[in-house]
Amino acid sequence: MVSKYVTHLECSMTGKHFNANEKQGLSEVGRPLLVRYDLKAVANALKKETLAKRTEGFWRYHEMLPVAHCDNRISLGEVVTPLMDLPRIAKAHGATGRLTVKDEGRLPTGSFKARGLAMAVSMAKELGIDHLAIPTNGNAGAAMAAYATKAGIRSTVFCPDDTPPINVEEIAFQGGDTYRVNGLINDCGAIVGGGKESVGWFDVSTLKEPYRIEGKKTMGLELAEQLGWQVPDVIFYPTGGGTGLIGMWKAFAELEEMGWIGSKRPRMIAVQSTGCAPIVKAYDNGEEHAPLWENAYTHASGIRVPIAVGDFLILRAVRESGGFAIAVEDEAITQAQAHVAKEEGVLLCPEGAATFAAWQQSLTNGSIGKDDHAILFNCATGLKYPMPEVQKAIDKNQTIDYGQFS
Ligand SMILES: *Cc1c(COP(=O)(O)O)cnc(C)c1O
Repeated sequence: MVSKYVTHLECSMTGKHFNANEKQGLSEVGRPLLVRYDLKAVANALKKETLAKRTEGFWRYHEMLPVAHCDNRISLGEVVTPLMDLPRIAKAHGATGRLTVKDEGRLPTGSFKARGLAMAVSMAKELGIDHLAIPTNGNAGAAMAAYATKAGIRSTVFCPDDTPPINVEEIAFQGGDTYRVNGLINDCGAIVGGGKESVGWFDVSTLKEPYRIEGKKTMGLELAEQLGWQVPDVIFYPTGGGTGLIGMWKAFAELEEMGWIGSKRPRMIAVQSTGCAPIVKAYDNGEEHAPLWENAYTHASGIRVPIAVGDFLILRAVRESGGFAIAVEDEAITQAQAHVAKEEGVLLCPEGAATFAAWQQSLTNGSIGKDDHAILFNCATGLKYPMPEVQKAIDKNQTIDYGQFS
């Protein structure tokens, strides 16, 4: 069963309605389904003051989420992810506005994929689904395996064979039946799609079921609440399938409809790597869709997504918000990661570092204002990724030259 506040599911392309109390994948035209709510009823039932007293974590917004029964709200101890300002770096780059990292690496399984997959798994439980499958570059599979195990649901996971071992091992260790595939994420997706009939698993690929967006939507709800029901000027979002960007855009629209925020919107900025930038290319060419990016490469594996079913939704949100799409070099990502760690003690993952590199470029070329409040999404913990080796050593059997430390 779906929450009483959900009215229906709607095709994001044609507007056709679908029953939310049945298992649904993509719409009749193969595009994502969006969850629609009776937001007047939600606004009557939920007050900002009530919300302020609730325990932390994204389940606090349950009236704006699809899961009906509290027993089915699968939880691994979600937190409100902190906002951390980078004042020293902002000043050094001549910015007068706030530069803030939202650190999603604090969530269960160490990435913001926990938000989307917690919702998809919880809804699978509501709908009596007993086997889930997913293609993943790492973090989505880890979140799905952990939440599915917690929910008592089977999970099968396919990763490109160059996915970092720590991710693959984490997935398997948390109960996912895990396979490496000699291809990219879209090849893994084809395997999941191919097994739907014969194996009977449910496909929880990015945007191929309606509920991961609802989980990612909580980033927008949480951010607005943390800023005292205001929105920032710009949001830099590391864009793969774009679930989070689309989800936040939806969150802001719903909050406005409830009368909780005004009509101001942040400029949404889709950040990709120059080695895999289908959305940036489509944005630059004024296109509504983004064709497959050939020979995709970037070490920021979370944004190595050559083709996205929600391409038009990403591009629409970016354009409607007055934002833009920007690609950064892998080299700039590596430098950004080292810079933020050394200057502010904040360890970003490569995808999070890409947003910092994009902020730097956008500030320099004037695409954003010096006094803008910018939010950078650090989507995963930097601890899951390799770091430069330490060479310096001490031999305890030799006389130590203490001069070297001063
Ligand atoms: C999945 C992922 C992304 C991309 O998120 P989308 O919402 O699918 O665009 C970025 N970074 C990391 C670390 C990820 O795991």
